[in-house]
Amino acid sequence: MLKSINDVEKEILEILQYCVNCKFCTTVCPLYEEWLRESAFGKIFSIYYILKYDIPLEDTLRNIIWYCTTCGKCEYLCKDAGGGIKVVDIVENARRILLHKYHFKPIERHTEVLNDVLNYYNPYHVENVKRWDWLPFSLPSKGEYLYFVGCTAAFRMQNVAKATVEVLNRLNVNLAKFTREKCCGSVILRTGFIEEAIKIMEENYKNINSSGSKYLITSCAGCYRTLKKDYPKIVGDLDVEVLHSSELLEKLLNEGKLKLNTTALKGLKITYHDPCHLGRHAEVYDAPRSILSSIPGIEFVEMPNSRENSNCCGAGGGFRSGFTSKSLELALKRIYEAKETGADILVTCCPFCELNLKQVAKERNIDLKIMDLMELILQIV
Ligand code: SF4
Ligand code: SF4
Repeated sequence: MLKSINDVEKEILEILQYCVNCKFCTTVCPLYEEWLRESAFGKIFSIYYILKYDIPLEDTLRNIIWYCTTCGKCEYLCKDAGGGIKVVDIVENARRILLHKYHFKPIERHTEVLNDVLNYYNPYHVENVKRWDWLPFSLPSKGEYLYFVGCTAAFRMQNVAKATVEVLNRLNVNLAKFTREKCCGSVILRTGFIEEAIKIMEENYKNINSSGSKYLITSCAGCYRTLKKDYPKIVGDLDVEVLHSSELLEKLLNEGKLKLNTTALKGLKITYHDPCHLGRHAEVYDAPRSILSSIPGIEFVEMPNSRENSNCCGAGGGFRSGFTSKSLELALKRIYEAKETGADILVTCCPFCELNLKQVAKERNIDLKIMDLMELILQIV
């Protein structure tokens, strides 16, 4: 289960000795502009010295260690070219250590988000009983496929949640709503509040395991990564198979239950943005692409930075709440990348990416449709 802070601290110091200082991780970081400290190298270098020599430069260090979207692009590069340093794990664990052992004051917005997750069971300050208010029709609470809607789809991007249940309903999937759902804990885990996340994770764990379902379906890349990778490490193995909605669509396509034989989208050029927590974190690259490539009449185009090399939308790791304007700058860069392909539609598979990308597209009046894979599929099933 959860390792103690002292053990994690020792582990980090040991692992960081394998950093060969090649600095290959510097320029790939979406936040790197001028200073080494903005990049992965600057972060792990700072973490090493804070932990080893107990350096108390609070504000400056906070803006180094929390100035990271946890996108993992540095880690991907380090795996092939450097010392195989798990930068994201180190950053998240360093945040935990700095908050709990060195008593760093958290970023104010992160404290507010933490309090909302603990008190409202979602980061949006909304009563959790409203989590399923968006449902266009009733769903049972028992079924083979249990829908873990996630806070962003439930409270901010209901278009994604509605499209998901509509599509799965049309495909006769035995879908149930997870009535006792609480925030999966992702946002507070990523910002260093691991101890604080355990209670809600345990409650979800217990309720998922007693649901009798075989599959747990997520719309959100962050929920997916958390339920798939963090739950087994922190609270235990789930008795269900966690599937992202794109993986479920691919399964249905392979079983012949999803038939894409209409030409309703004919002539459209579509590109795809890999959410970091679905792509690099969980290696789900092919499922969305196999669906998009199966749509008759469309032209699917990749952005130059795609799959493992994809660029971040800027929303993850507590970055949107902690550094909002910079987060939107990253989203804008990603939108320009999509526009350069000549695409009419930018598809993604995460409501949180969609939220960030759409916000900046709207603010800048950019002519590009941005939608979830499920919203696109809804038009042709
Ligand atoms: S790429 Fe890896 S080994 Fe090279 S400096 Fe970055 S973290 Fe260290
Ligand atoms: S995880 Fe992403 S944002 Fe963080 S240091 Fe690595 S490349 Fe930069």
